[in-house]
Amino acid sequence: METRGKRLLPLLLPLLAAAVAPYAVARDQREVVKVSGAPEGVVWVVQLSDLHFSVHHPERAYDFRRYVGPALAMVNPALVLITGDLTDGKSKDHLTMKQNEVEWIEYENTIKDIIEISQLPVRTFYDLRGNHDSFGVPLSGGSYDFYQKYSINAKLRRQGRVQSITLENGGRKYLFVGFDNTMEIGLRGPTNLFGHPTDEQIIELDQAFSQWDTDFVTAAVTKIAFGHFPMSFTALTESGKSMKDIFLKHSLSAYLCGHLHARVMKFRVRKTALKKQLTLKSFGSGRWVIGERVEV
Ligand SMILES: [Zn+2]
Repeated sequence: METRGKRLLPLLLPLLAAAVAPYAVARDQREVVKVSGAPEGVVWVVQLSDLHFSVHHPERAYDFRRYVGPALAMVNPALVLITGDLTDGKSKDHLTMKQNEVEWIEYENTIKDIIEISQLPVRTFYDLRGNHDSFGVPLSGGSYDFYQKYSINAKLRRQGRVQSITLENGGRKYLFVGFDNTMEIGLRGPTNLFGHPTDEQIIELDQAFSQWDTDFVTAAVTKIAFGHFPMSFTALTESGKSMKDIFLKHSLSAYLCGHLHARVMKFRVRKTALKKQLTLKSFGSGRWVIGERVEV
């Protein structure tokens, strides 16, 4: 009996894996959130970017908690996209760049407060890694990779570098696909200024954006991407492919990103009303970036 069981085991395991894996992928890829409380066909989404929480600038987290929590409670968005550079990782003189766990703990605590103040479910939040969140991380997922310990995405076990979520209201679908194309090895600035997508990521993105492209889905689908690096700061893949081609192929309505920010741009809290066309309106800014320079 034992011998027979041992013989069957190698056969059963691949079958089990084959049965479970496609379901798990399909379930993640096609997650849909029905939105209520907004006018028909409209969803509300907030983008926050480049928080740069820093031990040298405690006012950033303080003001973030003070302004963003109540603002989110008022807007009541279906999604909050935090598009990278969650922490700063720079020394006071800006010459040393490495992960500082204290800044990550501050990020974790602040987000916890924001969730409590806004009363939004934690799954509403998506936080991406930026280049500052990779300074001096020798290996993605290693012990110095604090993003994997303190970020919302990591805590919700959102695996991989591409995530997608679909919002639906009044029969209209809004497909959001987020991606992390920071370098696998966390070089320090200024050598990690560019996003480096891989060929695999391009395929993953194509699949994620294709998930509703079937004859069975008759509802209109608006496709939006979110990431950290603007296209002008994104390299080609190793075989020369561009993310732009995927965006064009899928006729994206918008790409929401961060990374470049200047005194004139201020800290951006955006509410997004998605009707037939995507519109963005800035509705708030905190004092904590006044005087900040372009910092990438
Ligand atoms: Zn950046």
